[in-house]
Amino acid sequence: MTTVREVRLKSRPVGMPKHENFDFATVELRDPGPGEVQVRNLWMTVDPYMRGRMNDVKSYAPPFALGEVMNGGAIGKVTKSNDPAFAEGDLVQSQYGWREGFTAPGKTVQKLDPRGLPPQAFLGAAGMPGLTAYAGLLRIAALKDGDVVFVSGAAGAVGSLVCQIAKAKGHKVIGSAGGPEKVKFLKEIGVDHAIDYKAQKDLTAAVLAGAPDGVDVYFDNVGGEHLEAALNAARLFARFAICGMISIYNATEPQPGPRNLALLIGKNIRMEGFIVSHHFDLMPKFIEDLSGWVREGKVKWQETVFEGIDKAPDAFLGLFSGQNTGKMLVKLA
Ligand code: NDP
Repeated sequence: MTTVREVRLKSRPVGMPKHENFDFATVELRDPGPGEVQVRNLWMTVDPYMRGRMNDVKSYAPPFALGEVMNGGAIGKVTKSNDPAFAEGDLVQSQYGWREGFTAPGKTVQKLDPRGLPPQAFLGAAGMPGLTAYAGLLRIAALKDGDVVFVSGAAGAVGSLVCQIAKAKGHKVIGSAGGPEKVKFLKEIGVDHAIDYKAQKDLTAAVLAGAPDGVDVYFDNVGGEHLEAALNAARLFARFAICGMISIYNATEPQPGPRNLALLIGKNIRMEGFIVSHHFDLMPKFIEDLSGWVREGKVKWQETVFEGIDKAPDAFLGLFSGQNTGKMLVKLA
């Protein structure tokens, strides 16, 4: 038997989550039964959508159960296999995150072929966040020649890919993120006009300073003031891909919509929300395009890594105070 540590949801947060909402437990892993594998996790992801899963509210992803181990994306290595489809040492991707290891049916994990990429990239740029950027920009916002693109949360996992995909396709990109270090990072990845939103009195003016004729595409990761500024700065027939609204995930009261929503009418703006799981059909094309952009040096990514399962809550909480540049990850082994 092998002993592993796991993170459980101890209580449901009100507002910003705190360490006291999480609990740690040590559990013994049973040997795999027929058709099962035992896996040692190497990496786990923390993502903003997990905040919604801490609430007892029906949504597109089910709530975490109180007192139970949490879950989410993870990359691990098979340590014991009782499933002919897997051998010891195989890399696998699963939804058994927030724990150092597990025993589970082989059919609930997927073999991972890293194709020369670091395995953890499949939790970030080459995984769900990357596909979110690709689907949101190309399918939802229907990016077309000449579009000027504005991205909020631009230095994060999704946002930094949106910026680089738009640049790879030859567009002018305005990116907004919090703090001078992130502005520096945005410039490094080719963003034409990088905004430190925390230092702005007038976000609309900051966007228009980079796009004097306005923006055609807005990729929203943040909501709130950023969405209002995007509406103000939008050009006629602009398309808004509404991907996330992290600025309100910890609100304790329902938040008002943008005060200038009526601009949708006169500017003929199309605003569309989306969830990446409805766009998995794009994955093969996305990976093909991404591989090309990586080879050509047009797309690169950054990770912010916390070490050890004990730091998983810190990594998760860090998403809400902007502690990550690029993908926030927890290294487990
Ligand atoms: P990020 O890597 O972007 O991390 C979150 C970032 O959000 C932080 O680094 C911080 O950056 C910023 N942030 C946190 N609080 C605030 C705030 N109050 N106001 C403004 N910015 C804030 O996360 P992801 O790339 O994983 O996700 C980005 C967005 O995309 C999220 O809204 C997420 O929910 C959404 N998403 C949606 C999906 C879908 O299918 N629709 C799939 C995946 C993600 P800074 O320092 O710049 O403030």
